Amino acid sequence: MRTAVVVGGGLGGLAVSGALARSGWQVTLLERADRIRPEPTAVVLWPNGLRALRALDLGAGLDAVATPLPDGGVRRPDGHWLVQPRPVPVERLPVVVHREDLHDALIAGLGDRVELRTGVTVRTVRAAPGERPAVGDGRHTFEADLVVAADGADSVIRRQLAPQANVVSSGCAAWRAVIPWYRAPSLPDSVSGEILGAGYRFGAASLGERGSSGASSRGGIYWMATAAGAPRPEPPQTQLALLRRWYAGWPAPVDELLAATEPGDLVQQEIRELRPLPKAYGFPVGPGGVVLLGDAAHAMPPHLGQGACLAFEDAATLASLLRESTLPDAVQAYDRARRPRAAAVVRQTRRMSAVLQTRGRLALRARDAALNTITPRILGSAAAIAAQWRPPTP
Ligand SMILES: Cc1cc2nc3c(=O)[nH]c(=O)nc-3n(C[C@H](O)[C@H](O)[C@H](O)COP(=O)(O)OP(=O)(O)OC[C@H]3O[C@@H](n4cnc5c(N)ncnc54)[C@H](O)[C@@H]3O)c2cc1C
Repeated sequence: MRTAVVVGGGLGGLAVSGALARSGWQVTLLERADRIRPEPTAVVLWPNGLRALRALDLGAGLDAVATPLPDGGVRRPDGHWLVQPRPVPVERLPVVVHREDLHDALIAGLGDRVELRTGVTVRTVRAAPGERPAVGDGRHTFEADLVVAADGADSVIRRQLAPQANVVSSGCAAWRAVIPWYRAPSLPDSVSGEILGAGYRFGAASLGERGSSGASSRGGIYWMATAAGAPRPEPPQTQLALLRRWYAGWPAPVDELLAATEPGDLVQQEIRELRPLPKAYGFPVGPGGVVLLGDAAHAMPPHLGQGACLAFEDAATLASLLRESTLPDAVQAYDRARRPRAAAVVRQTRRMSAVLQTRGRLALRARDAALNTITPRILGSAAAIAAQWRPPTP
């Protein structure tokens, strides 16, 4: 039986572990935390991410807990429409899902062939020619035919195999929250749409319907805000006060949502990205290999909501290639398939970052031009990128 060690129990690691196990692999999943824990926020999955999850046979579990996200358009803080909402065929709509629900679907997909070992911090990778790939935590060595590095933006495996790729700050911080229905403000049932200002951005989406007895008990209103600058060191209560100040006067429902948010709902994060991207995502080693997957391969700012979607694409691609070819070939084919794809998405994301971060008086005109004309184009290309991807066919 072929064996794999997957390092990291985030969305990417869980998805690929289940996929390999369902194809008959013996999988060991190593996670440094004492348990596998999702964030109490939500995630938007674009059609490419959904297709990848369906290719991984995880679509059924997801359908029960995901809410389609109707096109709510994009506005400026003065209410001016940058992109008007328009009817979009349902198959092109993204969905929003609570991360805890997505996590449950991925855990259910692990089956009983995955040996889950928590509290293991991988520190080294063995990728010398002629040897079997392996990782180690300083006490044990975990050897396998295939090592999957799904250990996130700070991946120790990537640092050793692709040291040219650095994790750098993207120059902004993000705040997210899910306001449970019982204390969510009374707004139209479906809240969606984005508001973009110079250096600031706010988006919201309904998770399920108020009062519905849907499959998930984690419904509410999810919002995400980003602001140029470093994360705030103050306690959540002060962060919330700052957010209310920064976004005061923005179009509804921003004020209402921030007013209904409690400090304990807030999840703050520094936004980071890989610059440059790794030169390779696949490393043939002896009879097997090592691959980089998810944020370990292509951490990027969340401006287009594609990080998790790409991690699922990676997992679906790898699983499909491993069904078709022998191991070292599949590792090389994975590299060829995934690097241009990730680079294209990262390019669009960086264009969006540049527009959002155009600040200062001298740049005012450029900023307005960017917001008015470039943003709709970037969002159009991003939607096309999301629509285009198809899982590889055997
Ligand atoms: C604010 C924000 C909003 C976002 N919104 C969206 C969105 O709407 N749509 C979307 O598609 N994407 C979104 N993303 C991106 C998405 O969250 C990430 O791309 C995705 O979660 C990456 O998953 P991963 O499994 O690759 O990495 P991670 O989630 O970082 O998981 C890595 C795992 O590896 C473990 N680990 C790390 N090092 C070691 C080690 N040495 N040994 C053992 N274990 C280790 C960690 O503990 C962790 O469990 C967003 C990101 C942010 C920051």
